[in-house]
Amino acid sequence: MKYVYFFGAGKADGKGDMKEVLGGKGAGLAEMTRIGLPVPAGFTITTEACDYYLKHGKKYPKELQREVEKNLSHLEKLTKRKLGDARDPLLVSVRSGSAKSMPGMMETILNLGLSQKSVEGLAKNTDNERFAYDAYRRFVQMYSSVVIGLPKEDLEARLRNLKNSLGVKDDTQVTAQGWRQLVGEYKAYFKEKTKRDFPEDPEEQLWGAIGAVFESWMAEKAVTYRRVEKITGLLGTAVNVVQMVFGNTGEDSGTGVCFTRDPSTGEKTFYGDFLLNAQGEDVVAGIRTPMHLNEMAKRMPKVYKQLEGVRQKLEKHYRDMQDLEFTVERGTLYMLQTRTGKRSPGAAFQIAVDMTNEGLIQVEEALERIKGEDVERLFYPILDPKMARAELAGRKFAAGINAVPGAAVGKAVFTAQEAEAWAAKGERVILVRRETSPEDVGGMFVAQGILTATGGKTSHAAVVARGWGKCCIVGAESIDIAAEKKQASVNGRVIREGDFITLDGSDGTVYTGEIALIRPDPPKAFATLMKWADKVRKIGVRANADTPHDARVALELGAEGIGLCRTEHMFFKDFEHPEKSEERQQAIQEMILADTTEARKKALAKLLPFQRSDFVGLFEVMDGLPVVVRLIDPPLHEFIPKDPRKQEELAKKIGTTREVILRRMEQLKESNPMLGLRGCRLTIVYPEILEMQVRAIIEAAIDCQKRGIKVIPEIMHPLTMDKKEMKILDDATRRVADEIISKAKVKLHYLVGTMIELPRAALLADEIAEVAEFFSFGTNDLTQTTMGLSRDDAGRFLPEYVDERKSGIFPADPFQSLDIPGVGKLVEMGIELGRKTRPKLEVGICGEHGGEVESVKFCHRVGMDYVSATPFCVPIARLAAAQAVIEEKRGKGKKG
Ligand code: PEP
Ligand code: MG
Repeated sequence: MKYVYFFGAGKADGKGDMKEVLGGKGAGLAEMTRIGLPVPAGFTITTEACDYYLKHGKKYPKELQREVEKNLSHLEKLTKRKLGDARDPLLVSVRSGSAKSMPGMMETILNLGLSQKSVEGLAKNTDNERFAYDAYRRFVQMYSSVVIGLPKEDLEARLRNLKNSLGVKDDTQVTAQGWRQLVGEYKAYFKEKTKRDFPEDPEEQLWGAIGAVFESWMAEKAVTYRRVEKITGLLGTAVNVVQMVFGNTGEDSGTGVCFTRDPSTGEKTFYGDFLLNAQGEDVVAGIRTPMHLNEMAKRMPKVYKQLEGVRQKLEKHYRDMQDLEFTVERGTLYMLQTRTGKRSPGAAFQIAVDMTNEGLIQVEEALERIKGEDVERLFYPILDPKMARAELAGRKFAAGINAVPGAAVGKAVFTAQEAEAWAAKGERVILVRRETSPEDVGGMFVAQGILTATGGKTSHAAVVARGWGKCCIVGAESIDIAAEKKQASVNGRVIREGDFITLDGSDGTVYTGEIALIRPDPPKAFATLMKWADKVRKIGVRANADTPHDARVALELGAEGIGLCRTEHMFFKDFEHPEKSEERQQAIQEMILADTTEARKKALAKLLPFQRSDFVGLFEVMDGLPVVVRLIDPPLHEFIPKDPRKQEELAKKIGTTREVILRRMEQLKESNPMLGLRGCRLTIVYPEILEMQVRAIIEAAIDCQKRGIKVIPEIMHPLTMDKKEMKILDDATRRVADEIISKAKVKLHYLVGTMIELPRAALLADEIAEVAEFFSFGTNDLTQTTMGLSRDDAGRFLPEYVDERKSGIFPADPFQSLDIPGVGKLVEMGIELGRKTRPKLEVGICGEHGGEVESVKFCHRVGMDYVSATPFCVPIARLAAAQAVIEEKRGKGKKG
C-alpha cells in the first residue's frame, strides 16, 4: 500500500478526486499542482496511515518510515535545501486535513525544522534575525502545546510578560533580542515540564508532529464536531508536510484567505482578506485587522492579477465556489489551499443559479447542490451574527430539542391565556409550557416562539409550530416550570413572567434577555431554482394547512393543494375572527360533556356554522386545487380544561356543575389515549359528529361552487384499520353528502378516503381500498404504532438510539426521517395492495415526513401521487422530489 503522495514542480502523485485518502487539503494541493498553479512542494501522508496508527496502539505502518524519508529527500532535492541545515535550512509546515472539512478542529505545526543551529542559518540567509527568531518562537510554542500537550495558557502568559517587560503592545514591536529571550524561556519551561531538552533533531520533530496530527483526529473537539455535523465513515486525517513559505518577511509579503464568490450573498465578486507582512495564523486569529482584496490590488497589482487568474482557473476547474488560502513571499504568490467554500443558504441558491446560467454546471447539478436545510434556513429569522460569542455564552439558560428552526424573542408567559392577553396589548411573547395541548393553540398562535419542557419533534407543540414556521424548542428537561408561580428556573436561575428570553430553534438553545434577530430575504435565485425543480419532479406537493391563512402561505410556497386539514384545530381558535374563538370552544366542550345524543346534536349544531365558514375560507383560497379534509382525530378529553377554576367557569356558562364535568372526564379517561377512543373510532361511536362535519364540508363546497369557485373536496377518515369499519364511515359520509347535494340540485364531485396510520390498515390495504377512494399515509401515527414508540415521549431516549457514539441503532430519528426498512416496508406494501384492488387509487403522505428530503425521495420511489408537508416545508419537498428524479436517472436511488 502506498502511504505517501508527493506533489511539486508541476507534478503530483495524487489527484483532486482522492479526498478519501489524501484529505481535502492534500487532494486540493495535488490538483492545484497538476493544473499548473503555484503551490509549494510537499507530500501527503494518507488517512489510511492514520487509520493504521490509531488502530495499532500509536504505531506507524512498517513501510511509512522509508516512504517519508524518500519523499523528504525528494523535497530537499527539489527545494535545494535540507531540513535542519545550519546554513540554509528547509522548513516545513505539518498540517491536518480530512476528507470533510472540519475547520479548526485538528492540529497544525508551522516552521518545523528550526533548531538552535538552523535558526542562525535562517537569520543569516534572510539577513533578518528578528524574522528568524520570530519563526523559531512560533515553532517552539506550537510544538510544545500541540505535540507535547503543555498548556497553551502557560506559553501565552510568557509572551504577555515579555511584551509587558518590553513595554510594547503588538507582536510586531518585539525585537530579535526579545524573541530570542522568549525561545529561551519556552525551552526552560519545556525542560521543567518534560524533564528533557527541546528536540533539536528535525526528524524527531517531524515524527512527533505527524503523530500529534494523527492523534488530533480523536481529540474531544474533533469527535464532537463529527457527531454534530453527522460526519461518519472516514478513516482519519491525512498529514500534509509542505515547504514553508513566509508571508512575514516584509512589506512585499503577506497572507490571505479568500472566496471565489461572496459566501454570504453568492454575488460574483472576489471576496477576501489580506494581511501584509503576516503569517497564516495571524489572519485567523484576528490579531490585526486585515485589508480587503481591493486594497491588496492597489498595493500589489501584479500579484493580485495573478491571484485573480487563479480564482478564475479554479472555479472553472472545480465548477464550484472555492475557499482559498494563499501566501505572498517577497512578491511571489503561493497557493496553500483550495476547497469547496461554505456558504449561507441564500448564497447557495444564488451560486447554483448563476453557475448554471454561466454554463459551468447543468440544471440537475444546481438542484442537487441545494440541501433541505438551505431551503429551511432561508425563511427563518436568525440571531444577529454580530452578537459577541462570549456574551451569547453568558446568556445561555437551557438547551432542548430543536423542533422548529429560526429564532424568536419575546417576554416569557406561562399560560396560553396570558399569551393571548399580552399579545392583544401588543407585546411579543414566548409561550413557556411543560407541554402544550389543543386548548393552547390560541396562545401558541400569537406567540413569537414556543418552549416546552417535555416532548419530542412530533409532539403537539412541535407539529403545530412547524405548521406555522414558528420557532419551537421542546423537551428542555432541565427547566423547572412553575406555571402557578409564573416562573421557570434552571439550577437556581429564574425567569419570571415578563422577562425577555430568546430562543434559537436551530440548535435548541434558550437564552435570557433580548437578542437582536435578522430575517434574511429569500433571493430571486430561490424562485428560479424552484421553477427548475417543478419542471423536473414527478410527484405532486401539497400542504398540511388548517386555516385560510396557512393555505395562502402554502400556495405562495408552491403547494398544489391541501393534503391534510386537521379539523379539530378549528375547534379552538377562530383564526380569521379571533374574538369569536370562545363561542366555538364552548360549543365543542358542550358537545363533549353532553351525555345524550340529543344534547350532543344540539351542541354540534352550534359548531356547524363555524366549521362551514372555515371550509368556505379554505376552498376560496384553494380555488381549483384539491383539499383533503380530515374528520375529528384526537381523544375528546384533550378539549376539556384541566384547571379547576376554568372548569367552574365552563360549568356556569353551559348551565351545569363542576361535578358533572369531573364525572364526564372520569368517563373519558384512558390509560393509553393514543390507542383509545380517537380517530374514526370517535365517529363510529358518535356518528352525529361525522354528520355535522360532512355537512359543513359539503355545504361549504356547494356555497363556493355556486360562486364560481372550483372545489375538489376529499373527505378523509383517520385511523381506520378494517374494511367494515371503512364501509360504515363511507356509507354515513355519502348518505349525508348525497342528500345535501341532491336537495341543492347541484353536481358536486367529492372523494371519500382514509388515512393509513395503523399496521393493520397497511396489511389489509387491498380490502380497505375496495371502499376507500384514496389513501394518505399518516406516518406520524404509523411510526408510533409500527415501532411501538410514543411520538410524544420517545424524544427522551431516542438520542440514545440515534447517537453513533452511544448505541447508534437508528441512523436518524424515525419521527423525522421515515424508517424505510420498517415503516417504509408497510407503506410500500400498503400501496401495492391498495392498487391491486383499485389501480387508480390516489396515494399521498401527510405525516411530518412529507417535508423531509430522504422521506420525500422514498415517496417518489414507491410511486405516491403526492406528498403533503407543512407550508414552510413545501419548497423542501419540491426540491427533494426533483432530486429523487435526478438520482433515479443516475441509478443512485434504490427502491425501498
Ligand atoms: C399522522 O399521524 O401522520 C398524521 C398526519 O396525523 P396526526 O399527526 O394529526 O396524528
Ligand atoms: Mg395521525
